[in-house]
Amino acid sequence: MTQTHINGSGTVGVIGLGNMGLGMARTLLREGHAVTGFDLSVERQADAARDGVTIVATQQELFSACETIILSLPTARHVQTVLIGDNGLVSCDLAPRLIIDTTTSEPDVTRELDAALRVIGHVLIDAPVSGGPAGANSGQLTMMVGGDDADFAKAMPILSVLGGKITHVGPVGAGHAVKIINNMLVATHLLTMREAVALGKAAGVDTNYLISALNAGSGRSAVSEVNYPKWVLTGQFDSGFTMGLMRKDMRLAMALASQKDVVLPVSQLAGQIWQDSAAALSDDMDFNRITELTANTNTAKAGE
Ligand code: NAD
Repeated sequence: MTQTHINGSGTVGVIGLGNMGLGMARTLLREGHAVTGFDLSVERQADAARDGVTIVATQQELFSACETIILSLPTARHVQTVLIGDNGLVSCDLAPRLIIDTTTSEPDVTRELDAALRVIGHVLIDAPVSGGPAGANSGQLTMMVGGDDADFAKAMPILSVLGGKITHVGPVGAGHAVKIINNMLVATHLLTMREAVALGKAAGVDTNYLISALNAGSGRSAVSEVNYPKWVLTGQFDSGFTMGLMRKDMRLAMALASQKDVVLPVSQLAGQIWQDSAAALSDDMDFNRITELTANTNTAKAGE
């Protein structure tokens, strides 16, 4: 195995300059790092360039210029393309690189990618995030990190710029497993909170009072404390996280349960409701719109 020496200094690369990646790039710039970025979308390139990111025309240019590279891509397939596809990192003859994959990805894919990169000296850690675009822009993300202790230590100077709460949860792949489980809970809490509000209304309780009381009680969750007051009751639905991405995360959770032979009756029902919601709620809509499905059918009632 090639000896890996990465000192974590120099220009940081960001591949995927979407809602999350651009927020992370802005935070790095604000904290004094030079940032080079790459995205397939011309619009995203322009937005990032306006904010001070040096945009390159190919991912190979970014690999050459940056010792530390953050990935913020839609799915595991995109991560595979960037790392082991044609013109991926493995095809470049480079000194060791540190890859921090913040994508919500798949633990088994992450372990395979780690093995492919490690033999040629590169380091991969999985550091998926929670906290949305607001957390990415403010450097207050919650990060669930997988990797061995030495690799975690190498990534820490950059992780500590991006994250407010950083938990090292185990070896490579463990971060992605924890992130999928986290989102399985959020997706399910949105459905149970929708039912709590419907029951409260039927019992004659004002929804605002119901939520205030729940948030002072033991039934509370991030959904009751943040999602309902901020995005659902205001009708804003502008969290920056889409139905398409949450349906992906629920699919990943269901696939993980099935691979590991774990039966999850409640979560599996929630997973089915999320998959069926595609008929009523398109991929680009805000994920909090799931609360607009009526409690006893999966039909969206706009504006309810
Ligand atoms: P996004 O769709 O806004 O951004 C993804 C970006 O990747 C797009 O700009 C796209 O053009 C780019 N891209 C796709 N393939 C590429 C490639 N091969 N090379 C370069 N760029 C490529 O998505 P997002 O909301 O920023 O989410 C990114 C990841 O973070 C996802 O895995 C998501 O599940 C996760 N996540 C999102 C949130 C959120 O609130 N948005 C919160 C936590 C985690």
